[in-house]
Amino acid sequence: MPSTAKGSRAGWCSKCQYVKTKKWRAEHPEQHRALKASYRARVKIECFAHYGGHCQCCGEAEIAFLALDHVNNDGGGRDRGHNGGTRLYAQLRRAGWPTGYQVLCFNCNFAKSQVGGCPHQR
Ligand SMILES: [Zn+2]
Ligand SMILES: [Zn+2]
Repeated sequence: MPSTAKGSRAGWCSKCQYVKTKKWRAEHPEQHRALKASYRARVKIECFAHYGGHCQCCGEAEIAFLALDHVNNDGGGRDRGHNGGTRLYAQLRRAGWPTGYQVLCFNCNFAKSQVGGCPHQR
């Protein structure tokens, strides 16, 4: 029976990931413990840690409340509801964390998308 390397995780640099998430882990040890079981949660944590770690509007740091937001949501071609999620996080990681995104909590993100600006900023 020919053996394949299917089970190996080539290309995964756990060291880089560790450095990036280390700070967030130190600040949120319990959230980290609760979430690290899941790969999806890990990508999410890494993503949020990279883009600020808390809501850039109100400072909310509970990851359950956080979402990734396009900084320049300039209309045209914006497919609301399909942004965010693990696929986006994984894409951003693969792309080397491009600029143009920020972390917002759901309240601020929702207000921004519904009324064009969070009441916190008024
Ligand atoms: Zn907020
Ligand atoms: Zn806000």
